[in-house]
Amino acid sequence: MRRKVLPLCAAALAICLCGCSGKDGSSDNSSSQTENTSVTTPAPVIQEEAVKKIEYEIDPSKPVIALTFDDGPNTSATPAVLDRLEKYNVKASFFVIGNNINEKSGAVMKRAHDMGCEINNHSQTHSYMTKMSTEEIKAEIEYTDQLVEKYTGEKTKFFRPPYISVNSELYAAVDMPFINGIGANDWDDSVSVEERAERILEQTKDGVIILLHDADMNIKTVEALDTIIPELQAQGYQFATVSELFEAKGVEISPDDQSLYTIVG
Ligand SMILES: [Zn+2]
Repeated sequence: MRRKVLPLCAAALAICLCGCSGKDGSSDNSSSQTENTSVTTPAPVIQEEAVKKIEYEIDPSKPVIALTFDDGPNTSATPAVLDRLEKYNVKASFFVIGNNINEKSGAVMKRAHDMGCEINNHSQTHSYMTKMSTEEIKAEIEYTDQLVEKYTGEKTKFFRPPYISVNSELYAAVDMPFINGIGANDWDDSVSVEERAERILEQTKDGVIILLHDADMNIKTVEALDTIIPELQAQGYQFATVSELFEAKGVEISPDDQSLYTIVG
C-alpha cells in the first residue's frame, strides 16, 4: 500500500515538463515514490480501483476535438487527470515517455487505456531526435511502444516529437503520423490555472488537437481542466481520441504522412 505522494517541489516541477528532458521527469517520478515514507495514511492502490469505461459515439457532423497530454505517465498528475476525465465523462490521449514507465506509472497508464483513452508515443528519452541516427530514432520509438504494449496490450499509433522538433530524417524513420496541437505553455509553472484555461479556450475550434502536459506534479493543468472541459462541452464539442478525430474527419492514417497535425480535417 502506498499513500498518494504529492511533494511540494516547485523547483522539480519547473524542470520536468515538456521543455526539458525526460530524464528529469523520470527522476522526479522515482524520487516522489521514495521520500517521506514516515507518513502512515494509506491510499487505495491504483490497481485495485474499479476502472470506469468511458463510452460514447462521435457524431462526425458535429464539432469534435482531441484532448492530449504529454510527458507522463506518473503517479501524481496522470491519475488526477484521469479522475477529471471520469468526472466529465470524456476521453483523451496520452503521449508517454518510455523512461517514465515503471510498474506503478504503468498501472496508471493501463487505467487510462482501460477507461477508453489512447496511449501514444513521445519517445523514450525526450531528446532532440533530429540529432539522432535512424537506428537511434527507431530504438526510441520501439522502446516506448513495447512498454505501452506490455501494460495495455496495444501498440502506439501516433507520435509527438519532443520539442516538436522535426526534419525529413525523423519523418522517414517514424512510421506514424506526427501530432502537434494548440498549447498553453503549461510546462511553465508561472502560467496560472486561469491563464492555461483561457489560452486553450481562445484557440479551440473544430478539429483541433489540444496539447497539455500531465508531467509529474503539473497540478495546475489538472485544475485548468475543471474550466476547459465543461466550457467546451457547453459549446458543443465532442472529445475524441486522436484516432477517433482522424476517423471523424475522414483523414486516413498513413505511415508515410509527413504532416504535423494541429488541426485534423
Ligand atoms: Zn514533451
